[in-house]
Amino acid sequence: MVVGLLGLQGAFLDHRKHLDQLGCPHRIVRERDDLAAIDRLIIPGGESTVMAMYLKAFGLVAPLKQRIAAGMPVWGVCAGAILLAQTVDTGPGILGSLGVTVRRNAYGRQDASDVHPLDVPILDRPGFPAIFIRAPRITAIQPTVVVLATRDGEPVFVRQGCRMATTFHPELTADPVFHDYFLRL
Ligand code: GLN
Repeated sequence: MVVGLLGLQGAFLDHRKHLDQLGCPHRIVRERDDLAAIDRLIIPGGESTVMAMYLKAFGLVAPLKQRIAAGMPVWGVCAGAILLAQTVDTGPGILGSLGVTVRRNAYGRQDASDVHPLDVPILDRPGFPAIFIRAPRITAIQPTVVVLATRDGEPVFVRQGCRMATTFHPELTADPVFHDYFLRL
């Protein structure tokens, strides 16, 4: 199994050490043809507006939507969650592949970014140090979306079938437990 790391912008390289640790091959995805070589995809954190622009410029929007619709497991991290979301603020999300509504930068400016202890029962991690960086808030979910962790009562780790999203950055901590979970979707 090969995991693709969408490598247009943002924190995609940081995922390599976790995948290496789990013995999972990975490859950077930058163009349409790269998609044929991967079995699942991580859409990293970064700046969703920039990534959206590149997704369009590189002709990746339709092929990505197709692969996801055909069942390719996908994980959106922070900006990646924004790209996957059905609704962003008040408009449609660019990939529209995950049944959530998100509000960008909803915790406030950069100085509101923090490390928050998160209980993630499904991963057996009480107090996981979740790194939130100008994170979005998930403000609504479809009934088929399962909430796997919350912060102040709001979803921050969700799954809908083989699609998952975290509004924080597990790749910036040493623990590969989220990557391990993703590989088992
Ligand atoms: N604020 C960014 C955005 O809206 C997301 C930040 C992140 O990925 N850490 O795209």
